[in-house]
This record gives sequence, C-alpha cells and structure tokens, in this order.
Amino acid sequence: MASSIRASTMLQSPSIGLQSVARRSFATLPRARPSTSFVNASRLQQSSRRGYADIKPVEPVKPRRKFRTLRWMWRATYLSLIGGVAYMGYGIYELRHPMEQPIPDPNKQNLVILGTGWGAVSLLKKLNTENYNVIVVSPRNYFLFTPLLPSCTTGTIEHRSIMEPIRSILRHKKAAVTFYEAEASHIDPVRKTVSIADNSEIKGTSAKTEVSYDKLVIAVGAENATFGIQGVTEHSCFLKEVGDAQRIRTKIMDCIETATFKDQSPEEIKRLLHMVVVGGGPTGVEFAGELQDFFDQDIRKWVPEISDKFKVTLIEALPNVLPSFSKQLIEYTESTFKEEKITIMTKTAVKKVTENTVEAEETGPDGKKTTTILPYGLLVWATGNAVRPIVRDLMSQIPAQKDSRRGLAVNEYLAVQGTSDIWATGDCAVAGYAPTAQVAAQEGAFLARLFNTMAKTEHLENRIDELSTSLNVTRTDAPVVATELEDLQKSLRRIKDIKPFHYSHQGSLAYIGSDRAVADVTWFNGNFASGGSLTYLFWRSAYLSMCFSTRNRVLVVVDWLKSKAFGRDVSRE
Ligand code: FAD
Ligand code: NAD
Repeated sequence: MASSIRASTMLQSPSIGLQSVARRSFATLPRARPSTSFVNASRLQQSSRRGYADIKPVEPVKPRRKFRTLRWMWRATYLSLIGGVAYMGYGIYELRHPMEQPIPDPNKQNLVILGTGWGAVSLLKKLNTENYNVIVVSPRNYFLFTPLLPSCTTGTIEHRSIMEPIRSILRHKKAAVTFYEAEASHIDPVRKTVSIADNSEIKGTSAKTEVSYDKLVIAVGAENATFGIQGVTEHSCFLKEVGDAQRIRTKIMDCIETATFKDQSPEEIKRLLHMVVVGGGPTGVEFAGELQDFFDQDIRKWVPEISDKFKVTLIEALPNVLPSFSKQLIEYTESTFKEEKITIMTKTAVKKVTENTVEAEETGPDGKKTTTILPYGLLVWATGNAVRPIVRDLMSQIPAQKDSRRGLAVNEYLAVQGTSDIWATGDCAVAGYAPTAQVAAQEGAFLARLFNTMAKTEHLENRIDELSTSLNVTRTDAPVVATELEDLQKSLRRIKDIKPFHYSHQGSLAYIGSDRAVADVTWFNGNFASGGSLTYLFWRSAYLSMCFSTRNRVLVVVDWLKSKAFGRDVSRE
C-alpha cells in the first residue's frame, strides 16, 4: 500500500518525488515505516492539488536514538584517533628536532646532580637550566622506567623500550647541560668537590677527576639489600637494573634447556626448574607473576615435556606478601597465586644461599623454627634497599647524620641535615616516605621549583642591591627607583615564601600475574582498593601514561601487542 502511494506521488510531482527519494535514501528508506510514509504521501497528494509554492517541506523521519548515539560514538572515536595520531606525531617531531641550546655558562653557579634515575630526571625535567651551569654525573647514560622492569625479565617488554637516553633528555633543555658518564665515589662537603671515575669498559687517559659544586643534589638511589646473608651476592640475581633483567631472562631459558639435556637426572630436572624468589614486596610479587605467565603462556607450549615440573616459590619473612597493600588485596594476591600454582612460603626467612640451594627458616604458629633446604635453578633476590657506599661515606663525615640508618636525613626542603648546599632526593634520602618512584619524582620536581625560585631570588636581590646603592635624594628619578625597589621587594617576599615539600600519595599498583593487578588508589581523601582484570587494564594505562616519552609509549605498546600476537621469545641470547 505504502509503496503504491509513493509511486503515484512521484508520478504527480516528479521534483517532489525526487526530493522525497533523496531524503528517504539518507534517512527514511532503510527504516521504512508504513504509517509515517502514508502520512507524508497523503500530505504530498493534498499539496499537489494546491500548487507547489506552499508545499510544506516533508519532515524527515528522525533516525532512531540508538543510531544517533552510534554515529556520535563513531565520530568521537575517529576524532580522538586523529587527535591521538596528531599528538603522537607532534611528540615524535619534537623528540627528533631539538632546538639550538646556549652552551653551559661557567660563570654561573655549578649545580651538580648525581644520578639519572627518577629523582634526578624529574628534577631535570622542570629545572630552568639557563640559571645554572648544570653538570650531571651518573654511570648510567639513560633513565630507566623501573615499574615495567619485571616485564623485561620474560620478554613481555624489551628493555630498550623502557630506557630513555639522558642525552636526549638533556638536549631538549633550554640551556645545554654537561653530562659525565661516571660514578661518584667521594663527596668532600668542605672543599665542595665530588670525585668521579669512569668505570666503563673503555677508558681514556682521563678516567678519574673531580667536579666542584656550588649546589649539589644527591639522587643516587639505593643498592640491593642482602643483610650480609652468605652467598646472596655470589649466587642470586637482583632486579634493579636493565642488566639484572637481561641476566634473569637468559638464566630462565638456560635452566630450561639444561633441564631437557640428555640423561639429566629427575632430581636435577626438579632443581633446575625450581625458580625461587626471595622477598614478597612488590618487586618479588611482580616478578613471580610475570615468570608464571611466561611459563603458562609460552614455555609450556614450546617445551611441553617440562609442563608438570616447572615451579615458582616465593619466600617472605613476614606473615604475608605485599605488606604495604590493604588486607583484602593481600588476600586477593595470595589466592591468585594459589590459582596460578605459585607456592608462597610466609614467615620464612632465607638464612644462607649456596650455588644450588637456599636455606630457609620457617617460624611456626607456636614460634618454633624449622629449617628447610630448597634446591633451586634460578634465585631472584628482591628484599629491598640498602644504602650506597657513596652515601654511607658522606654520612660518616657529617655528625648530624650519625643516627640515620637508611640514608641521608633531610629537612622539609630536602636539604641534607648538617650540610650547606647539599640536597638529596629519592631512595637515598630519608624524608619519612617509602622509597618509591612516586616519592622520588615528586621530590625531584620540588627541588626544581626550589632551584628555579632561588635563581629568581638571587636575581632580584642583586637588582635590589644595585638600586639601593645608586639611590640618593639628588637623583631626579628617585621616586621611580623607589617604586621599583618596593615592587622588587614585594616579588622577593612572594617568591621566598616557598612551602616545604609535601608528598601527595596517588596510590600503589602491582601486577600479580594472569592478567590481573591490584591497586590501592587514593580517592577523595580515602582509599579505594581493587584487584582483577579491570585493574590490570588500569595498571597498563597508568604506567603507559607515565612512560617518559612518546617513543617509550609507542615501543611499550608495540611490545605488548607483539608478545600477545606471537608469544614471548624463548630463544636464549
Ligand atoms: P634510581 O631511580 O635508582 O636512580 C639512581 C641513579 O643514580 C641511577 O641513574 C644510577 O645509575 C645512579 N647512581 C648510582 N650510583 C651512583 C654514583 N655512585 N654516582 C652517580 N650516580 C650513581 N616505585 C613505584 O613508585 N612504582 C613502581 O611500580 C615501582 N616499581 C619498581 C619495580 C622495580 C623492579 C624496582 C627495582 C623498583 C620499583 N619502584 C617502583 C621503586 C623505584 O624504582 C625507586 O623508588 C626509584 O627508582 C627511586 O628513584 P631514585 O632516583 O632515588 O633512584
Ligand atoms: P620491599 O622492601 O618492599 O620488600 C622486601 C621484602 O623482603 C620484605 O617484605 C621483607 O620482609 C622481605 N625479606 C627481607 N629479607 C628477607 C629474607 N632474608 N628472607 C625472606 N624475605 C625477606 O622491597 P621491594 O619489593 O624490592 O621494593 C623496594 C621499594 O620499591 C619499595 O618501596 C616498593 O614499594 C617499591 N616498589 C614498588 C612497586 C610497585 O608499586 N608496583 C614495585 C616494585 C618496587
């Protein structure tokens, strides 16, 4: 019926017919509704009798809400895609085209920064390098994004994807910065010098020297704690640096290949495939999760004969793993590990390590201690931080530091207590916060503000001195100078009013394996704890957004896609 009316309408009025066809082809045709078409058609019939001039336009039938929403969603998607690509393109362009930099000015104060980790790089990022003659000293000529380091041990992410060359970071500063790839071995706070040495493989005729400073920032982080336990340094792998992750990756595959060697005894196979992780803090937990994933998702496929023999054991001295997380997340992690078949031994402290075994002492509910000898193939030691020798050496020279045990005691402006012109940030500083990247980054940014402010203050003070000495009543422009002086003094008071460092905790995240993560996030002055696959997506997006550069972000995403599509690489380098 509707179609016959439509046909007759077209015959009576070809132009109208075309109009309505055109409209229908965009809006109404795919969803032809007989009642609507009938109303439209009868209106058209009436209007054709009256003439064309007063024809009311045919009201297009509104597309259904669902389709409109879909259309908007599609538009929003492609617009954000275009925006994302443009943003990324701009990021890449900026990275590849650094601006010309004025060379370091030796007449300016020497600001020496030790380290290229979280604290130092976050300071460098916000520091106006035009104000100082900035010198950076570190044995590592790159910044390492440590939160994704456990993923490098299994090849989920390639280590170079989370490294950012310090040369590139410094080349993007307003004024040039001097970088020495060297280790600082001694700080003399009286002579204001730092002894540095090139400990790399290739050395020139100059491999040891001194750098003098007017202002010094110590951001050397911490080393691995071993608590002096016998055999740890010789036989275990740590997980702090890129080299550690590479060593672990190689060793995992070496253990597997050796376990499948001809005529290997069953006990030896069991030992070689027993991976022991000591320390149930976030490092140990994340590594254990990554390792079990590697086995479940890849190794099991390529080396099926060891399927029932691969075992991961996590040993923790305290009653539970992840002690800094909330109770429900600890329980969730422990139950997830149980599902993943990771053995957790809590209230168990490792007392001795040999080439093939660890000696672990378990405290029973009655307080009785039992010792177990665990044979292992790979041992990863993740029991937290210890003070670096250079920091210990400086502490021993400063009486005010004699009671500090875990690093350089600093005041609320991060100045090292008992010194002048020395500041410390990150894991080597004791400011009352946990040794995390989050704290180090905020402290570094605070120091940048402090130094930028100090430079401004100095500039204002010099100008005030200059004006004050030249001001006398005989000058004709005395009132103008006096007003300028007043303004300068006001600015100086405002700038000098810099508030002490205040840490703002954003939350803690940890990956626990099988595409699950736990998160303790600060939420409106409270705490929001969550765990599972959605939290894992949050974990991924949070760390992706925190990566240092667009380059890092792109490389990490590509690595994630690569390992999802092709699996992790099981070849041993
Ligand atoms: P670092 O980042 O360790 O940097 C120290 C720098 O000093 C390095 O460049 C080093 O080469 C240099 N240096 C060392 N000795 C000398 C010397 N003698 N002279 C000159 N330079 C020297 N924290 C979080 O908040 N979230 C996480 O998810 C997280 N994950 C982590 C995962 C792993 C595997 C590890 C090991 C740590 C993780 N952390 C995390 C902790 C975080 O990495 C540290 O708290 C952070 O790196 C501390 O920053 P820093 O600048 O003090 O030291
Ligand atoms: P940690 O200090 O957090 O944990 C080390 C654990 O090892 C402790 O629980 C301790 O009880 C245990 N331990 C010490 N000696 C032992 C022994 N002999 N036998 C058995 N267990 C022993 O160390 P970590 O995990 O390396 O972390 C270091 C710092 O870096 C922490 O501040 C941590 O918060 C931070 N970090 C954070 C993340 C994250 O947020 N995802 C990841 C890694 C590290």
